[in-house]
Amino acid sequence: MEKSKVLIVGGTGYIGKRLVKASLSLGHETYVLYRPEIGVDIEKVQMLLSFKEQGARLVTGSFNDHQSLVNAVKLVDVVICAISGVHIRSHQILLQLKLVDAIKEAGNIKRFLPSEFGTDPARMAHAMKPGRVTFDDKMEVRKAIQEANIPFTYISCNCFAGYFLGGLCQPGFLIPSRDSVVLYGDGNVKVIYVDEDDIAMYTIKTIDDPRTLNKTVYIRPPQNILSQREVVQIWEKLIGKELHKSSVSEEQFLGSMEGQPYEHQVAVGHYYHVCFEGCLTNFEIGEEGVEACGLYPEIKYTTVEEYMKRYV
Ligand code: NDP
Repeated sequence: MEKSKVLIVGGTGYIGKRLVKASLSLGHETYVLYRPEIGVDIEKVQMLLSFKEQGARLVTGSFNDHQSLVNAVKLVDVVICAISGVHIRSHQILLQLKLVDAIKEAGNIKRFLPSEFGTDPARMAHAMKPGRVTFDDKMEVRKAIQEANIPFTYISCNCFAGYFLGGLCQPGFLIPSRDSVVLYGDGNVKVIYVDEDDIAMYTIKTIDDPRTLNKTVYIRPPQNILSQREVVQIWEKLIGKELHKSSVSEEQFLGSMEGQPYEHQVAVGHYYHVCFEGCLTNFEIGEEGVEACGLYPEIKYTTVEEYMKRYV
């Protein structure tokens, strides 16, 4: 079977650049949207040029120019959107709705993967404010996709390892402490951590796979379903030292939102659902979903211990 041509929107981003790399490495003709709005952001321009050097094609297009998006979409079979989440709140939804409009008009797309890459928003109807905005916005984009009858795959990849392992699951930290850690309650709720490059590989694997058509794909590496306490134990083993442990209650943790900037409040809400409530692991995957590690056993995913070695 011929491999689909792919357009990546948001290709210079944290997950986007990995998607470009994975798409090229799996042999797809890969297009990356170049938005003139990036102006003189030299880092982005250099990154786009490096994609080109690796074989990607840059295609000019702007969210302010509908026709340019339609033209870009017409070049490919599959569109993957990886634009930012919370930092451009309500921006993300507007941009993605514009992309949905362009895909609808172009009429040639065999699969669209919107910018999801986290907790399954369909399971977060109960989420607390203000963090729930992330899930509500993603659900609105899903609604538009489905109303337009665009074939889709939703990637629910759980936690980016860099954010969650780097901080030993604590928001605001990206390097694990060698001294102390605050546990969520008893620290025994199971969370799922996934290496960002692995997320990109699994994502690209899904695009030509009929088993993932109109499904949510959950990435659940079996060895990476661990509690915060287990992550801390792995870290302690790696550095040969025990950390001082204290504990925060649900009330205290949620109280820490008060008076904090919006982004911080959103993050606290997300950590609450993941680390206290166990929202990533407290359900079985149903008819609407499939699990990626089972579908693609040929991918040798990075374990939590392997990932954490980089911090030693
Ligand atoms: P980034 O913040 O790295 O941004 C990605 C890209 O979005 C940018 O490089 C840019 O692409 C595009 N973008 C940013 N601002 C604008 C704008 N104003 N107009 C148009 N495009 C813009 O995103 P992430 O990789 O952090 O997030 C991607 C997805 O992953 C989101 O849906 C987010 O919710 C999710 N996520 C999940 C996490 C998890 O732990 N599961 C953690 C963090 C994010 P370009 O300039 O190339 O066009």
